[in-house]
Amino acid sequence: MFEYAPAPESRSVVEIASSYGLFIDGSFDGGKDGDVFKTVNPATEEVLAEVASAGPEDVDRAVAAARRAFGTWSALPGAERAKYLFRIARIIQERSRELAVLESLDNGKPIRESRDVDLPLVAAHFFYYAGWADKLGHAGFGPDPRPLGVAAQVIPWNFPLLMLAWKVAPALATGNTVVLKPAETTPLSALFFADVCRQAELPAGVVNIVTGAGDTGAYLVAHPDVDKVAFTGSTEVGREIARTVSGTGKRLTLELGGKAANIVFDDAPIDQAVEGIVNGIFFNQGHVCCAGSRLLVQESVFEPLMDSLKRRMATLRVGDPLDKNTDVGAINSAAQLTRIRELSEIGSAEGAERWSPDCQLPDRGFWFAPTIFTGVTQAHRIAREEIFGPVLSVLTFRTPDEAVAKANNTPYGLSAGIWSEKGSRILAVADQLRAGVVWANTFNKFDPASPFGGYKESGYGREGGRHGLEAYLA
Ligand code: NAD
Repeated sequence: MFEYAPAPESRSVVEIASSYGLFIDGSFDGGKDGDVFKTVNPATEEVLAEVASAGPEDVDRAVAAARRAFGTWSALPGAERAKYLFRIARIIQERSRELAVLESLDNGKPIRESRDVDLPLVAAHFFYYAGWADKLGHAGFGPDPRPLGVAAQVIPWNFPLLMLAWKVAPALATGNTVVLKPAETTPLSALFFADVCRQAELPAGVVNIVTGAGDTGAYLVAHPDVDKVAFTGSTEVGREIARTVSGTGKRLTLELGGKAANIVFDDAPIDQAVEGIVNGIFFNQGHVCCAGSRLLVQESVFEPLMDSLKRRMATLRVGDPLDKNTDVGAINSAAQLTRIRELSEIGSAEGAERWSPDCQLPDRGFWFAPTIFTGVTQAHRIAREEIFGPVLSVLTFRTPDEAVAKANNTPYGLSAGIWSEKGSRILAVADQLRAGVVWANTFNKFDPASPFGGYKESGYGREGGRHGLEAYLA
């Protein structure tokens, strides 16, 4: 294979301060007790910045600011709220190069993805919900749907800015105000977004950003003056939040984990399926809740498919996230890398066969080579548990019924994929899959107009589309 010359995006397009405060009531401050944590570049382990850790008093201030702002924000005509959202969307587009570099530095994802997937989708979400703000009476929730009040929103580290957009855009469009807590390993793009809100002259207190770890999130969701909780993250924390919120009258949506089946039938176009498999599990280093982490292959095409998949995996470039040729970037944190390693070792110990292409991993930073396991059975932990990394478990099936039974044999139900040339087969199988999203002859396609969410332990409620408005309206 020929070699590409390095093509690094310039790091200097974005300015990163050495320290950041909390964004409360329209301005930044250091937090009451002065606690800080560091956020690092996972590709180099370099400290990027020190960030304030919000304690209970800070969360109280943020919720109070959101409550004060709610009166005027919710009273604005929808068309006026829309103007702010359109302005935010345009500023995001204008500053998308800065934001893409910042996201890749803090998260480890390839610049090709932050630039071409995350940022365009973030802007599209704000544009999309801006369009709804003055049409809420026609959205199918009655003639005069009302906002809920103050929304507490807690998001994970895998798509930091995109998850923010999924939460903030519908909340603001419907007239709610927000206190958002980004993940502790990826706070920087949310803090940049706070600056975007200032640039857009969004009224103070409509969006507040409190940084910190799980205890900050726990305090926020339990706050008595919060009307709505929206959480994206692990099923374990989602369960805890459901217990906290239960009986309080707060509205709750949970977007949790997944273990999606990507099903390849023997009539599927193999080359396209291979691209879809690679995109399904190696996109964003596999840190994707809806990743196609269980590949179900019809037995008769197992060998040719595996040969093609391995050939394709050998061409994946793993390395510097800022290099425009990079396909697979860094694992987001040391803790996540440990989890991926542990589950992969368990896969080998339980008897599955492990394979990775030859690839030179950088010396510093958190890295894991793209990996597949074959000979996996449904009893294996790597077939049941979410690895949340670039690791694919491959199982086989003989009949469509067996494929459906295996695909649904999971406590999760977020997404699935079907590869087949027969439209009737796609429709029949999709109908039987217990998953919130089913992709046909594609995978990991997102659009703000399309609702997203899960069944069973993948959570409840929908984000995106008209359905996404419902979670923020009474
Ligand atoms: P996590 O649950 O550990 O953390 C998510 C967020 O919750 C972070 O901001 C964290 O600080 C906060 N948090 C931790 N403990 C908390 C508590 N007790 N109360 C309130 N907040 C708390 O998950 P993670 O490791 O950051 O993210 C990975 C998980 O997220 C995966 O399981 C993945 O599938 C899931 N995820 C789901 C979706 C979806 O849309 N369904 C999208 C992205 C990620």
